[in-house]
Amino acid sequence: MINTIANTPLSYTLLNALPVAVYTCDKDGRITWFNDAAVGLWGRAPEKNQELWTGALKILKPDGQPLPLHNCPMARAIKEGVAIDGQEIIIEQPDGKQVNVLTHPVPLFDDDGVLTGAINTLLDVTEQRNSERKQAMLAAIVTTSDDAIVSKTLEGIITSWNGGAQQLFGYTEEEVIGRHITILIPHERLQEETEILTKIRKGERVEHYKTYRRHKNGTEIPVSLAISPIKDRKGNVIGASKIARNVYKQQLAENTLQQYAENLELLNTIGKTISENLDVQEILQKVTDATTTLTGAAFGAFFYNKLDEQGESYMLYTLSGAPREAFEKFGMPRNTDVFAHTFNGLGIVRVDDITKDPRYGHNHPHYGMPKGHLPVVSYLAVPVVSKSGEVIGGLFLGHPEAGRFTREHEMLVSGVSSQASVALDNAQMYEEIQKLNSKKDEFIGLASHELKTPMTSLNGYLQIIDRSLGENDRNKVFIQKALSQINKLSDLISDLLDVSKIEAGKLPFSLSTFNLPELVDEVADLMQYSTKTHRIIICSDIHDLVVHADKQRIEQVMINLISNAIKYSPQADMINISVSASHDKAAVTVQDFGMGISKEQQERIFSRFYRVDDLASHISGLGIGLYISKDIITRHGGRLYVESEPGKGSTFGFEIPLKQ
Ligand code: ADP
Repeated sequence: MINTIANTPLSYTLLNALPVAVYTCDKDGRITWFNDAAVGLWGRAPEKNQELWTGALKILKPDGQPLPLHNCPMARAIKEGVAIDGQEIIIEQPDGKQVNVLTHPVPLFDDDGVLTGAINTLLDVTEQRNSERKQAMLAAIVTTSDDAIVSKTLEGIITSWNGGAQQLFGYTEEEVIGRHITILIPHERLQEETEILTKIRKGERVEHYKTYRRHKNGTEIPVSLAISPIKDRKGNVIGASKIARNVYKQQLAENTLQQYAENLELLNTIGKTISENLDVQEILQKVTDATTTLTGAAFGAFFYNKLDEQGESYMLYTLSGAPREAFEKFGMPRNTDVFAHTFNGLGIVRVDDITKDPRYGHNHPHYGMPKGHLPVVSYLAVPVVSKSGEVIGGLFLGHPEAGRFTREHEMLVSGVSSQASVALDNAQMYEEIQKLNSKKDEFIGLASHELKTPMTSLNGYLQIIDRSLGENDRNKVFIQKALSQINKLSDLISDLLDVSKIEAGKLPFSLSTFNLPELVDEVADLMQYSTKTHRIIICSDIHDLVVHADKQRIEQVMINLISNAIKYSPQADMINISVSASHDKAAVTVQDFGMGISKEQQERIFSRFYRVDDLASHISGLGIGLYISKDIITRHGGRLYVESEPGKGSTFGFEIPLKQ
C-alpha cells in the first residue's frame, strides 16, 4: 500500500510538493520514501530501503536529552502498532543546526490487518518555539524588573502591571488592571497624558520624559518615562507600553552635584576676593554672606573680638540674612554655656536643636532666647582664629528648623574661616601700617611747620647782619654761605610740608596763563647759575607756547628734574632740555647722561621717600622730589614719566594739556 501511494504519479507529486515533511517506512523500519521537505528537516537525504526509522542523524528530546533513533516516535509507532499524535522532538542536522519538530507517525495495515509499515508527518515548529522562548524571557524580565512596566490601551485603560509598578506606585495588579491610567497622574499634569497618547497614536516613541506621577498614598514621585506604541501584526497601534523609573535618587544626586559645583564656585570667588581685600569690614561681610549661603542658614553673624566700654569682647560686626535689630537684645554669646567653648577658641559648636541642649536656658538675663529674637533652633558657631592663635571672632549661623547643619557644613565654614583669618591678619597689619603712616605724615607736617618759623627768623637776622657789614668785610663771605645753607634748608622744609599737604589733599594750586618756553629758559638760567659742573642746553627752538597752569609749581617740577639730572650724573657735563607741543599738549624733557635707573626701579622712584639704594646712596636726598612733581603734574591732568638705561642716562619728561 505504501508503495501504491508513493508510486502513483499524482500522489507522489502531491506529497512531494507538500510544505510538510512526510516519509514512510516498511514494517521493519526501513525508510522507503520521503519528500523534499523531509530532506530539508533532516538536513540530508537518507539511503532508501537501508536506513531505519528516520533520516535524522541525531534526535533530542525537547529538554535537550538525546533520544536514541530506535526509540524515536516512528520506531515506536511501528513497534507498537499505534499512532502517535504530535510528539515533539529536536532534530540536530549534520551542520549542528537544531529544529523543533512535531511528529505524527501513523502505522499502516493491509486488508488483513497486518502491519505493513508507517507514514510520518513532521511539522517544523522551530519559529513558534523560538518566539515562545522569547516571550517567556520577556515576561521574566518584565516581572523581575525594578522599573515599573505598564501597558495600556489607546483609551488609557491599564492592561498589564508588573512588580516594579506595584513597588513604585503602591497598587497591586488586581487593583489597577482595567482602571484608567490617570489614577497615576497628578491632577495638574493630566494634559500630559493627552499629549503622550497623541504621539503614541502616530506610532512615535516618547523617551526620557521627566515628570511626576502619583503614588497610591497621594505622594508625588519624580519619574522618567519611556513610552512605546504596541502594534498588532498588521502594524496598527493598539496600545502603549510604559516604563517608569523612579528618578528621586538621581534627582537628589544631580541636585547635590549642582550644589557642590555652586559651593565650589562660591569658595573659589570668596577665596579670591578675601585674599585680595584689605578692608576688614568688607572681608567679614563677604565671609558672613558666603558662609550663610554655603550652609543654607537663615542668618549669619560675625562677632568680632574687640573690647567695648563694658569690657565685653564679642561685638556684632557683620550680619547676613537678618536685620541688625534682630540681634539687639541678644546677649554676648561668650557668656552662654553653649557657646563659650567656641569663643574661647576651643572649637566649633554645632547644635541640632538648641532648645533641647541641656546647657541651654540657664543664663541670665534671658534664660534662653531673648523675647522677639529670631526663631533659631539649629546653630553652628565657628571660631576665626589668627595665626598667632588669638580668637579674632566667631561666625554664627542659625536656622529656625532643627538639624539643619551637618558635618560637611562645619568643614566648609571652618575652611572659609581659616582663609578669612589669614586675610584678616593681613588687613589688620595693613590697618596698623596705615595708622603708622598717617602718624608719620602728621609728624612731618607738624615738624616742618615748626621748623619753618625759626628758619624764617634766622634768615631775617642773617640778612640784617649781611647788610650791616661793609663790602670788604671778610665775615661777609661766611654770612653769604650761611644764607645759602639756610635757603637749602628752607627748600627742604618746603618740600616736606608739600608732602604732608599732598597726603592731606591740601596742596594749594594757583592757576595762571604763562609762556612755558620762557619759564623753561628762566629755570635753566637759574640752575646754570648754581652749577659749574654741567652745561644746561635748551635743544628746542619753540619760543611761544602759552599754557594755563600753576607757574610756581611747574617751576618747582623743572627745578627738581634739572637738579636730579645734575645730582645723578656726576661723571657727565651736559643736560639737554627740550620743549615741544602737539595739538593738545605741551611737553618738556630733561635728559642727562648719568647713572640711569633700572626698569624695576623706574616704577618705584615716584613713590614717597623712595630712593634707589645702591648707586645713589652717597648722594643726599629725601626721596620726595619726584613724588611731589608727579602729584603736581597729575593734578594738572598731565603725565610725568621716565625713560632710562642704567649706565647711559635718563630722560624725565612731563606733559600737560594745553586746554585746561
Ligand atoms: P631724591 O633725589 O631727593 O632722592 P627724588 O624723588 O627726586 O628724591 O628721586 C627719587 C630717586 O630717584 C632718587 O633717589 C634717585 O635714586 C632716582 N633718580 C631721580 N632722578 C634721577 C636721575 N636723573 N638719574 C638717576 N636716578 C635718578
